[in-house]
Amino acid sequence: MNSIIEKAKSLHQLSKNEIILLLENNSINDNLFKAADEIREKHVGAKIHLRALIEFSNICKRNCKYCGIRIQNKNTKRFRLSPNEILNLSERAVQKGFKTIVLQSAEDDYYNIDILGEILRKIKKNDIAITLSIGERKFEEYKMLKESGADRFLLRIETTDKELYKKLHPGMSYENREDCLKNLKNLGYETGTGCLVGLPGQTTESLANDILFFKELNADMVGIGPLIPHKDTPLKNTPANGFLLSLKVMAITRLLMPDINIPATTAMETLQKNGRIIALQSGANVVMPNINDNELKTKYDIYPGKAYVDYSELEKELKLIGRTISKDKGFRVK
Ligand code: SAM
Repeated sequence: MNSIIEKAKSLHQLSKNEIILLLENNSINDNLFKAADEIREKHVGAKIHLRALIEFSNICKRNCKYCGIRIQNKNTKRFRLSPNEILNLSERAVQKGFKTIVLQSAEDDYYNIDILGEILRKIKKNDIAITLSIGERKFEEYKMLKESGADRFLLRIETTDKELYKKLHPGMSYENREDCLKNLKNLGYETGTGCLVGLPGQTTESLANDILFFKELNADMVGIGPLIPHKDTPLKNTPANGFLLSLKVMAITRLLMPDINIPATTAMETLQKNGRIIALQSGANVVMPNINDNELKTKYDIYPGKAYVDYSELEKELKLIGRTISKDKGFRVK
């Protein structure tokens, strides 16, 4: 087992079977996390990149079976920020010294290319990187958003198990999601993807395929999060036990993709006390503090109990583990 970890550390390559062995064997976990931490230190260093997350709409046309803001959840209080409200929050991020803003929303067609383009151009008057996470759009739309100033895009593949993907995403197509990711890459976006861990019926083989997919796509960022069941979704009875496995998927991803950006995801912190710091010591190098007002934070209810970042606490915690906050935009350095 340890020779597989050594191989991953030196070659950054593993076969599907080797990944499965690592995922299934829990006696090597400490060594795995230590190896991922060493590779993170060697390739991307001790700095943590902070991304200011602005969630600007929870009005969704999709019906993903795990997600609290799916169209069929009638209990969610819907909100949609105006362009001015988004610009005010972006200004807040700039004032606080963030070097990246992440604009995330449900799949809400109200924000057409004209509206989004205008917002991007205005934000871009500041010296700040912009990440979009707004779901699936056409190639031409991604192109125009890039031309308007978007630098990066986050679109998780969620799972590479096509049957499972189909079951969880009614009316959506795996092939289209994959095409979107390829289009984003081809358009020159720093492209982020990732998966959910702990989905019903998900196997270690399918998680190994997810990791190999990230590598094949040459993703620039990979966000991995445990599923957190939401009471108003069809997955409400799924056990919330994906923390350890998601940490392992993340650590193996770091070993195979040493120079990418990997967030300590909010879902990890939500499911496990101190989960953010544990993730930062197991391969992660990015944190995405939500800068919305409290009322909106609770309305963007994709899963219950979402954890938030307390900035001064975070600074203290990072100091304790020998890490500091980066002052640059944190692009992938190849
Ligand atoms: N609409 C955009 C998209 O499809 O990429 C971005 C918003 S979507 C709500 C952001 C992410 O939330 C998804 O990629 C999914 O992995 C995650 N998510 C949704 N429901 C979740 C749940 N119950 N537990 C954990 N993560 C969840």
